[in-house]
Amino acid sequence: MKILKFGGTSVGSPERMTKLLDIINPAEEQIVVLSAVSGTTNSLVEISSKLLKEDKQAALSQISALHEIYNAFVEELLPEGAFLEEGQEVVDYHLNFIASLANDFFTPIEEKVVLAQGELLSTTLYHIYLKSINVPSVLLAALDFMKTDEDSEPDIPFIGSHLKPLLEKSKGNKLFITQGFICRNSFGEVDNLRRGGSDYTASLIGAAIKAEEVQIWTDIDGMHNNDPRIVKGTKPISHLSFDEAAELAYFGAKILHPQSVFPAQKYKIPVRLLNTLEPKALGTLISAESEKGKIKSIAAKDGITAIKIQSSRMLLAYGFLRKVFEIFERYKTPIDMITTSEVAVSLTIDFTDNLDEIVEELHAFGSVEIDNDQSIVCVVGDFSADTHGFAARVLEAMKHIPIRMISYGGSNYNISLLINSKDKVESLRSLHNRLFE
Ligand code: ASP
Ligand code: MG
Repeated sequence: MKILKFGGTSVGSPERMTKLLDIINPAEEQIVVLSAVSGTTNSLVEISSKLLKEDKQAALSQISALHEIYNAFVEELLPEGAFLEEGQEVVDYHLNFIASLANDFFTPIEEKVVLAQGELLSTTLYHIYLKSINVPSVLLAALDFMKTDEDSEPDIPFIGSHLKPLLEKSKGNKLFITQGFICRNSFGEVDNLRRGGSDYTASLIGAAIKAEEVQIWTDIDGMHNNDPRIVKGTKPISHLSFDEAAELAYFGAKILHPQSVFPAQKYKIPVRLLNTLEPKALGTLISAESEKGKIKSIAAKDGITAIKIQSSRMLLAYGFLRKVFEIFERYKTPIDMITTSEVAVSLTIDFTDNLDEIVEELHAFGSVEIDNDQSIVCVVGDFSADTHGFAARVLEAMKHIPIRMISYGGSNYNISLLINSKDKVESLRSLHNRLFE
């Protein structure tokens, strides 16, 4: 069984939706995971925020605008007659349901229900379309098997034990369709896997049923080896190991929901990033195999704040770092990069809401210095201890740029440099020239 996930733009128009059959082969066993039609989830977020603000009129007018969009959508997607009527009923049902929520007390629980309507619409309409052209398929309700636990972490064993019987029940069928993004939480309420979560759905399903492969279909030809908006001549990376992909996940390579790597890694399910507009292109394969002696990718993240704590109490002391870390923990602030000397420690954060309070508490240990507007530049590849020369090449490429921190050896797969954000463009280009050209 393969899992194929199509993003919002891949189902973004009736034409795009009908073209999915260029990629989906109905004769092969597969579960197709769909996002909402592009723009829909954003629209539902706006509608919810109007309802939360009790701006009922504004919400209702946006709901009817969305209703119009879907009326036009089904008219183009479905042939005249019974199938069109069925499609119209589905559209009316979901849009009227959202409108009905405007009459009642609206809470974040209803908000999650509203956000779920996009994927429910796209999958149901696609299912009707397939019926209209005589392609058999089974529509699976993600809310019957996708579930998160008390810590809002997906419950993979639950997903497997609830999905497998549904597949079993429809034995003989090959093509299954289900919603990305949506799930139930530990209270049984409708919830979601956060924005962009359809990728995560695909990878969780892949892990839960030990699928042969997960395919993430988007509008880009795979993950690129540098930021194509900044550097000319970037190329899709043909292969990444799970570890390398996990390192890159933090850098917000928009192409893949960051959490998606982990279930696939744990259950060793290969993930392919593919391009709907160029189905023959190889894209990027993420799997357990790693290639020795290769630098794979350069990535950067802005909006980083560096904090340096200098303290004579750190010298020859134990427990010092724990006390420092506890402060960050209390303020629910993740630490990303860290480097230490005998009497100082520097670390970086990107969530700065509680920075003032954190700094005040850190003053108890010694002097504290803050640097804003920093960027982490990260080079991912085989940096294992038995290879050599790569770190030197990275530093050589950066020799004209002031470096604030270096992190090397944390994993075998990356070297990270902290620089002033104004030097980011030059850093990415210089590294690209030295490492790939
Ligand atoms: N529709 C959801 C979103 O826009 C989930 C997804 O597309 O992956 O965030
Ligand atoms: Mg996406």
